[in-house]
Amino acid sequence: MTTLLRVETLTKRFGGFTALSDVNLNVAKGERLGLIGPNGSGKTTLINCISGVVQIDQGAIAFENRDISALAAYKRAKKGIARTFQIPRPFHSMSVIENLMVPLEYIVHGLVDGSNRNAVHAEASELLHRMRLSDRTNAPAGQLSQVELRKLELARAVAARPRLLICDEAMAGLATKEVHEILDILMELNASGITIIMVEHILQAVMRFSQRIVCLTAGRIISDGAPVDVMANPEVRRAYLGS
Ligand code: ADP
Repeated sequence: MTTLLRVETLTKRFGGFTALSDVNLNVAKGERLGLIGPNGSGKTTLINCISGVVQIDQGAIAFENRDISALAAYKRAKKGIARTFQIPRPFHSMSVIENLMVPLEYIVHGLVDGSNRNAVHAEASELLHRMRLSDRTNAPAGQLSQVELRKLELARAVAARPRLLICDEAMAGLATKEVHEILDILMELNASGITIIMVEHILQAVMRFSQRIVCLTAGRIISDGAPVDVMANPEVRRAYLGS
């Protein structure tokens, strides 16, 4: 088993408040990991620390055996860490495919002169196909439904060809059929070699997706293991399920 991501004794404070306390977490290459915990337990803070949106106070984060603790978010993205945001914010007046072509051209390929637009268009089309969004290629992003917005957000994250994809509640507010559709897409991305961390409130979705689940409560990991074992843990049931 190769370790892709290693979080060691991570502590994160906001002023006098400790949001994460001594968190240790290893994620294996190719793994599908679910991250659960009650509201305010530190899930978003942890993925913000990993993706570089916030800086850590103590501990270390290593990706592919390199310490990335001090790297800016865009540098971590370049190294292969991608994330989705809870509230996708595409450019509403641009078409779906243009929303992908812009980051592909400027960020992924570093093209500024409009050369190679055909190749970039083909790459964006392929991404939309993988996200089952081809039928909305030319629609303005502002006209997308919730599930279509989530798919575009996933496509945007995957455009950078990450090796680690962190999904922050990619399924919140979706109907059951749509949840299954997003799960299928995430399974395919994982099968193509992308390691995935899923932060999710919909327990059935996390259970179905994850090979392993980590439960946070009040900034600490209280359980880490196989989904059935974590769900059976009395501390998890008390803290998270209220029973
Ligand atoms: P979760 O994602 O599990 O709901 P969060 O990581 O969003 O939890 O929040 C964990 C705790 O840290 C909460 O008490 C929240 O109020 C606090 N927190 C998160 N971000 C900030 C911030 N930028 N400034 C101050 N407190 C924050």
